[in-house]
Amino acid sequence: MKAVFLTGHGGNDIVSIGERPRPVRKPGEVLVRMQAATLNRVDLYMRDSGAGITHTLPQIMGVDGAGIVEEVGDDEIQLRPGQQVVLHPCIACGRCEFCLRGDDILCANAKLLGEHRDGTFAEYVSLPARNVLPRPKYLDAVEAAALGVCHLTAWRMLFTQARVQAGETVLIFGIGGGVSMAALQLAKMAGARVIVTSRERATLDIAATLKADHCIHSGSEDIARTVQEITGGRGVDIVIENVGAAVWSTAMKSLVRGGRLVTCGATTGSQPGADLQRLFIRQLKVFGSTLGNLSEHRALLEACERNGLRPRIDRRYTLDQAHDALTWLEAQKQVGKLALNIA
Ligand SMILES: [Zn+2]
Repeated sequence: MKAVFLTGHGGNDIVSIGERPRPVRKPGEVLVRMQAATLNRVDLYMRDSGAGITHTLPQIMGVDGAGIVEEVGDDEIQLRPGQQVVLHPCIACGRCEFCLRGDDILCANAKLLGEHRDGTFAEYVSLPARNVLPRPKYLDAVEAAALGVCHLTAWRMLFTQARVQAGETVLIFGIGGGVSMAALQLAKMAGARVIVTSRERATLDIAATLKADHCIHSGSEDIARTVQEITGGRGVDIVIENVGAAVWSTAMKSLVRGGRLVTCGATTGSQPGADLQRLFIRQLKVFGSTLGNLSEHRALLEACERNGLRPRIDRRYTLDQAHDALTWLEAQKQVGKLALNIA
C-alpha cells in the first residue's frame, strides 16, 4: 500500500512516499481503508527528532484520520464493513489504573498513532475496535479527521480541565494554530466570550469570521493591558495557550482572581518564571493538558454534529504532496488544518 513514512530523522529527505506492507488485521482489530488525515505539529517533531518517543523506523506518519471499515472480526458487534469512521489516536492498555477510571490518555502504556506506532498517512490502518468511532454524516472525511487531534485537545482543555461556562471570558493566544482555532470554535459553541491574539492581522480577520469577540494584534498592542481594558479591569476567566515561555507572564497577568490557565504546549520555551506570588495570592489554577480520551472524543463528535461545527481546513494535499504539506506546516503559514486526501 502507499504510505508516507519516516526512514530516519531530519528534514523532508527522510520522509519517504512509497510502498509499505498492508497491515494484517489482528484479533479484536478493525482494518480501515483510509480516506483522509490532517497534519499536526507533532508530525514535524517526529520527522525532526522524535526524541523521548519510543518508536521503530521505518514508521508511517500521521496521528488523526478518517476512512471506511474494510474488515472486522466475526465477533464485532458495533462496526460493519463499509461504515464511515474516524480514528481515536490513543491506543491504551485498558488495564492500568488510568484506563480503568476511563482516562485512557493518561495510560502509561499508551501508544499514539504516528508517534509510537504506524500512523494514518497510509491507505490502510488496523487498530483496536474501540479506537474506531462512527463518523458524523454531515462531515466529509477531511473534516472528521481534522477534529481528532486539535479539537480533541481543545475540548479537554476547555470542558474537562477549565470547565468553561456560558458567559465566561476566554483568552486564546496565537489563534493561527490548530488547537487555538479549535478552542475558539468550541468556546463560542459553549457560549463564552472569546478574546484572541495573533502577530498576523490576516489571521485575526479570519478569527473574526469565526465569531471571535475581540482580536488583539500582538505586534502592536500590549496584550495584558488590552485584556484589562476589554474586561473593565477584571481579567479573563480562562486562558488557553500553547505558546509557552513567551506569553506565560502575560497570561498570568490577564487572569481574574481564581482564574484558570490551561497549557498544552511550549513552542517558545518550557521554563518561564512561575510567578508564584501571583499564583497563590490571586488563587490561580494552572492545568496541563494533552490530547483527550475516548469518551471526550465521542462527546466532541456528538457536540459538533448537534451544533454543525466544521473545522477550518486551510489546504488539501494528496499523499504524493506530503512534502509540500510538511513544508507549509513548518512555515506556520496555515490558518486551520492542512489535510491529506488519501482516497
Ligand atoms: Zn492503560
